Amino acid sequence: MSGTWSERLSPAVRSIAPSGIRKFFDIASKMQDVISLGVGEPDFVTPWTIRESCVYGLEQGRTSYTANRGLPELRREIALHFLRRYNLDYDYNTEVLVTVGVSEALDLALRSILAPGDEVLIPEPSYVSYAACTTLAGGVPISVAARIENEFRITPEELEPYISARTKAILIGYPNNPTGAIMERGDLEKIAEFARQHDLIVISDEIYGDLTYGGREHECFAALPSMQERTILLNGFSKAYAMTGWRIGYALGNPDIIAAMTKIHQYTMLCAPITAQMAAVEALRHGEKYMKKMVGEYDRRRRLIHDGLKKIGLDAFEPKGAFYIFPDIRSTGYGSSEFAEKLIQAEHVALVPGNAFGSSGEGYVRCSYATSIPKISEALNRIENFVKKHRR
Ligand code: PLP
Repeated sequence: MSGTWSERLSPAVRSIAPSGIRKFFDIASKMQDVISLGVGEPDFVTPWTIRESCVYGLEQGRTSYTANRGLPELRREIALHFLRRYNLDYDYNTEVLVTVGVSEALDLALRSILAPGDEVLIPEPSYVSYAACTTLAGGVPISVAARIENEFRITPEELEPYISARTKAILIGYPNNPTGAIMERGDLEKIAEFARQHDLIVISDEIYGDLTYGGREHECFAALPSMQERTILLNGFSKAYAMTGWRIGYALGNPDIIAAMTKIHQYTMLCAPITAQMAAVEALRHGEKYMKKMVGEYDRRRRLIHDGLKKIGLDAFEPKGAFYIFPDIRSTGYGSSEFAEKLIQAEHVALVPGNAFGSSGEGYVRCSYATSIPKISEALNRIENFVKKHRR
């Protein structure tokens, strides 16, 4: 054997950095009295009816593997949900795959479609896994900066210069983590036209699709004219139903792509946990009213944090979806990482530097408002203290 252990690791693994989000959890976990606006996780417990359905299933002795693609009753519920909500018709036998969170679905989607060196357009700032999973799948992530002036919505004009003979797909995530941006129907129609022109596959991560505010309805990319076949739609239960720990999500797409994803899933995961699948059936059958209540609460928090940051003098556009706000901290004279590090040291408030979501997030920080109103109020007081003392 020659070389160090780390030299023997796969070049793809060596080339990716650990997630910039985790670093701040580690600092926060060693401190007393920290208020975390860092975590992208609901502070609610999964609604009881959902937990109970799992307990009941266990009592009945449902502890086995399931079909690789997932329990038929869950796939049927998912297909029905999309029919009712978006008038999208998916065959639950061939066009639905139940996965271990959107995380697995994302990995499977990328691994199914990418040949080595294929390029994926990724609007930025973006969720930390998009670029890393593209690299791990042998592809090349091509970051395309969205502009704050346009509330971080991506446009074909911004994407066009990055098209090459190797561009295979575009990976979009709206409502967006980390910015809270949404895309209106008109914005998405332009992206659909762009995808058609360049014959791209569209991976659309709509995990925050149920979390929109101010009466806005989420626009599902696959529901745009002639986009269903071209789109790999990813969604799950983690955020809307406060089910992060259950690890359950799904992918919808054309039968060939779903079959390819199922092949990888079969060999690597076998199936999603049956307990989580039973719970997900209940979430779709009876969980909506609980989900809507949580969304109402996020909305109150959203308005509080948006107004609070504005009063402090940290500009942020009003987030219309997800549970994040992305204030501009450049007026303090600090960069993103420096701001986050100094804030946690001085005031014990954890948030995530914007550059963890790509270089275009530099100058911003991500605050999650998936935490209680008293905690958000106290965090705002502390941030105000910090900004007053440190504004340069
Ligand atoms: N996609 C986005 C945009 C996310 O923010 C997250 C989690 O933070 C995920 C996917 C992963 O979700 P899951 O828990 O379903 O794996």
